[in-house]
Amino acid sequence: MMKVVFPGSFDPPTNGHLNVMQRASRLFDELWIVIANNQMKKYLFTAEERSAIVKSLVADLPNVQVTIWEGLIVEFASRIGARTILRGVRALADFEYEFELGMMNRGLDPGIETLFMPTDQKYFVLRSSAIKELAMFKGDVTGMVPPIVAEALRAKF
Ligand code: ADP
Repeated sequence: MMKVVFPGSFDPPTNGHLNVMQRASRLFDELWIVIANNQMKKYLFTAEERSAIVKSLVADLPNVQVTIWEGLIVEFASRIGARTILRGVRALADFEYEFELGMMNRGLDPGIETLFMPTDQKYFVLRSSAIKELAMFKGDVTGMVPPIVAEALRAKF
């Protein structure tokens, strides 16, 4: 039974995130999407809002769980008995950061491996921070995020 943990802020989730979720759910027996809630970060959407949005996006995938977590991801993984953390990577610029994060997590728990999944080329320019900015200026985010996220952004601004 291969369980994988896909952690992120998902503030808000984009089509790129959703694509990684869909591909991972086909690859692993169980996919746990972890909505990270870090006290030091400022989010546009609350953890509960991000969780509700992600849940509705993956409602049609039978082997996916969505949960909010405020602690270390390796601790969450070991708690549920997962030995793999999944991270999506877009350009090379992501890689350096993700590589360091992966090494840090490996240092914390050598029994847990980080795997990287390259984004689909259709989504490699999608970034939650840029999408929030675009939405704030009433720009058109259709095609970048699922319709319910576009609606949630409209409601926020
Ligand atoms: P974090 O704040 O932990 O980086 P994000 O919500 O920004 O959380 O991203 C979660 C994961 O999804 C990260 O591994 C990130 O690199 C990846 N990701 C972000 N955007 C995309 C995209 N367009 N395609 C594929 N993966 C992505």
